[in-house]
Amino acid sequence: MTKGTSQKPSLRAVERLSDAETVCPKCYGTGLEITPDGAKRCICRVRLDDADQNKRVKLPRRYDDCHFSNYKPQNPTQTAALRYATTFTMEYPAVDRGIIFMGTVGVGKTHLAVSILKGLTERGFSCLFYEFGALLKEIQDSYNPSTFSSELSVLAPVLNAEVLVLDELGASKPTDWVRDTLGHIINTRYNDKKLTVFTTNYLDIRPNDREETLEDRIGVRTRSRLFEMCKSVEISGPDYRRGKDSRG
Ligand code: ADP
Repeated sequence: MTKGTSQKPSLRAVERLSDAETVCPKCYGTGLEITPDGAKRCICRVRLDDADQNKRVKLPRRYDDCHFSNYKPQNPTQTAALRYATTFTMEYPAVDRGIIFMGTVGVGKTHLAVSILKGLTERGFSCLFYEFGALLKEIQDSYNPSTFSSELSVLAPVLNAEVLVLDELGASKPTDWVRDTLGHIINTRYNDKKLTVFTTNYLDIRPNDREETLEDRIGVRTRSRLFEMCKSVEISGPDYRRGKDSRG
């Protein structure tokens, strides 16, 4: 008995200590920071909200730092793409087409698509991010051989999100199943008048004999449907990451 009571206070002390360690030193857990100009939402809540938000839209953590504000256009195609993306974000839902960002690797297609998604989420629209290959894998992994079907729980959010970002279109090996799955997603969203923002490393014009076009990768019908659904925004330039490396 004596042993039990003597242990309790020390346990509570440990709890208090760990609480104290995690409590925000700016707002002491209230969520409000008092400044000379008045009370404002504490930075710890802003960070939590951002993390929560990114989880909900399934945005991988490597895109945490992608914002319109830190996209630095390197040429006129990038300036035009940035302008188009910001206007789209401000004017949505008064826009009638999505966007397909086309261009070689590292020109900032995903950076801009993610910035749109963050801007729209902040404005309260339900958005979702998927790298196309990862989506296909999730659908395959959920396949149930006894029912010959995949879990609707994977596909339903993709079909229902108000705005979907589908990254790296055309990157997956174009089997019949991949094309059918993509066709189903695109047609359903098109019929429901839901906008989609795509990125792809493939272009409409073959850059050389060895390379394929977007149409080669996703099929004539789907490419044609995308012309209706999306404005094509071509971005050119060298890989930004290489420039960053050489700039040190
Ligand atoms: P893509 O999707 O075109 O292959 P990303 O958008 O993934 O390229 O860009 C690769 C990396 O370079 C990312 O870290 C991105 O934030 C950065 N990046 C690309 N272009 C720019 C730019 N113009 N300004 C700032 N960062 C850029």
